[in-house]
Amino acid sequence: MAMRQKLVAGNWKMHGNLVDNQALLLSLRTQLVGLRNVSCAVFPPAPYIPQAQHELTGSAIAWGAQNVSKHAKGAFTGEVAASMLLDFGCKYVLLGHSERRAIFGETDEMAAAKFMAALTSGLTPVLCVGETLDERESGCAESVIARQIDAIIEVAGVSALAKAVVAYEPVWAIGTGKTASPEQAQAIHAFIRQKIAGLDAGIAQGLMILYGGSVKAANAAELFSQPDIDGGLIGGASLVADEFIAICKAAQ
Ligand code: PEP
Repeated sequence: MAMRQKLVAGNWKMHGNLVDNQALLLSLRTQLVGLRNVSCAVFPPAPYIPQAQHELTGSAIAWGAQNVSKHAKGAFTGEVAASMLLDFGCKYVLLGHSERRAIFGETDEMAAAKFMAALTSGLTPVLCVGETLDERESGCAESVIARQIDAIIEVAGVSALAKAVVAYEPVWAIGTGKTASPEQAQAIHAFIRQKIAGLDAGIAQGLMILYGGSVKAANAAELFSQPDIDGGLIGGASLVADEFIAICKAAQ
């Protein structure tokens, strides 16, 4: 059976400035070399994507955007099209992040429309799914995640998942310092993979499913050693060069 590659992606959220980014990107570029079976990527705020492109071109690190418009172009003030992200070398785009869902009212349908826009332009969507604490405690974590994934499959078809990455990010673990235990995370990752295997076993087997939620250098190796955890989506710890580098190395 072919081994899945791992991916460690840093979601910078709305942090950074030219000077700090420069130092961080330089550290990543010089220290993330020669990793085995691990790809690394950063997701800076949109204005800094050209800086990431400038600093990372020719390195082993890819970059992506935190959001994209569902529209290709037009009178949509404040929006950024997938083609524009491609113009600046983006490989990935985050979709359905819980902060977009909770703070900006993004629905499953909006995530699906953005997923299509990304995919048809050639960006790799990183679809974030995950339950809130209430949803977990009331026993509906799996049904929430199934709904979030089904919304994409309904619009894009299961075959689209062959060109996408899924990130399981329990909302209660994001930015809270509370990490899902490796067993809790593995259980949901296995659920996601089995659910997709019910539609297409080959796509399920090849799908990268990342874990996100307070991943740090200290807990990364144990999480990444679970059979269905194929790397991580890292928020806070991706802003600290040594932490992010250690997390990437833990995925080897
Ligand atoms: C995230 O925002 O995707 C995330 C996982 O954040 P943190 O690592 O800070 O919990």
